Amino acid sequence: MGEHTDDMNQDLGTYHVIVELADGRGWIHRYNTAARYTGGTEHVSPLDAHRMTPVWESEERLVSTIVFHFIENNGSCDCNKKRCLAAAAQQDEYDDECGDTMPIAKLTLIRPDGSEKIIYTDEL
Ligand SMILES: [Zn+2]
Repeated sequence: MGEHTDDMNQDLGTYHVIVELADGRGWIHRYNTAARYTGGTEHVSPLDAHRMTPVWESEERLVSTIVFHFIENNGSCDCNKKRCLAAAAQQDEYDDECGDTMPIAKLTLIRPDGSEKIIYTDEL
């Protein structure tokens, strides 16, 4: 087993984001900001995993990642929104057709302490 104690960046805690679509549907997305371990493979034991430092060093960086994901990147496509809606409703099957027909009305950050902050709205 390797060294499992180095800790460059601090765990910011568990954040959530309330994703509200313009049609009133939505879901709550979890962001685990902690360090994690690499996975094993066919040839490498999971017990030899390496600790990876947390991806985000500040709330500001986390927020910019979230907004980019849902408004401009993969998360903005209908297929990903439908996957998230299905997962939130504990449904295995969903229509995975791509498109741009499900605009987001609002993104609200929920901090680990429960306080909330609106990080995106289509009303701007
Ligand atoms: Zn898509």
